[in-house]
Amino acid sequence: MYEVFAALGAQPPLDIYYTPKHGSQIMENVLALLRDSGAMLEGHFLLSSGRHSDRYFQCAKLLQYPDMAAAALAGIAEKIGQDIRSGDLEVDAVVGPAMGGIIVAYELGRQLGLPAFFAERDDTGAMALRRGFELKPGQKILLVEDVITTGKSYGECAFLLEGLGAKVTALACLVDRRQAGEITWPFYPACKVEATNWDAGDCELCKKGIPAVKPGSRKI
Ligand code: ZN
Repeated sequence: MYEVFAALGAQPPLDIYYTPKHGSQIMENVLALLRDSGAMLEGHFLLSSGRHSDRYFQCAKLLQYPDMAAAALAGIAEKIGQDIRSGDLEVDAVVGPAMGGIIVAYELGRQLGLPAFFAERDDTGAMALRRGFELKPGQKILLVEDVITTGKSYGECAFLLEGLGAKVTALACLVDRRQAGEITWPFYPACKVEATNWDAGDCELCKKGIPAVKPGSRKI
C-alpha cells in the first residue's frame, strides 16, 4: 500500500511528493500516489455509463489515508494559496459535490485555512445545500471535485451555488480525465490523466479479447 513511502524510509517527509516549480514532477508524484493506493486501476473496465475504458479511478482509495490526501493536494493548495496572496484569485470558501468532493474540499480548506462544505442531492435528485450550510451574497467559491470526467457534477453544483448568490471563482480537482470540454474558470488539477473510453460496441480492448471488469464488483 505504502510502497512509495516504504521505498523512501519509514517516515518520509510528505513534501517529497511536491517539488515546487516542477509542474510535471508534481503530477507524476500524484499519479504514483493514485497507483500505490489502488485509486487508479489500469485494465479494461465497464463504466457505470455503459462505456468501456482503459482506466478506472476510485479516489476514495487514496483519500482514506489523510497523509496521502494531504500530499496529493499539496501542490495545488500551494499554487492556489499563491494566487490568493497575489490577488489573482479570490476565495472565501471551498465547496464540493458529495460524495467525491467532500474530502477534497475539506483537505484543500484545511491547507488553505478556509471553510469547506459540500452540496448533495435532495430527495428529488437535485443538487442542494443541506445541513444548515449557508452562502453569503457574493461569496467567492473554489469549487472542487475528485475526478472530472464530463463536468456534469461540478456543473450542477456551480449552477446551484450561483443561483444562491455566490460566485464560483475557480475549479480544482484531484484527477482531470476529460477527453474534451472547455473549463471557463481558472483550473487547478492535481494531475491530468489520459484515459480512453469507447462505446461498448466499438471498444478496442474488447476487440483484443480482453475481458471487461465492472469496478466495485468482486466478480470478473
Ligand atoms: Zn471493452
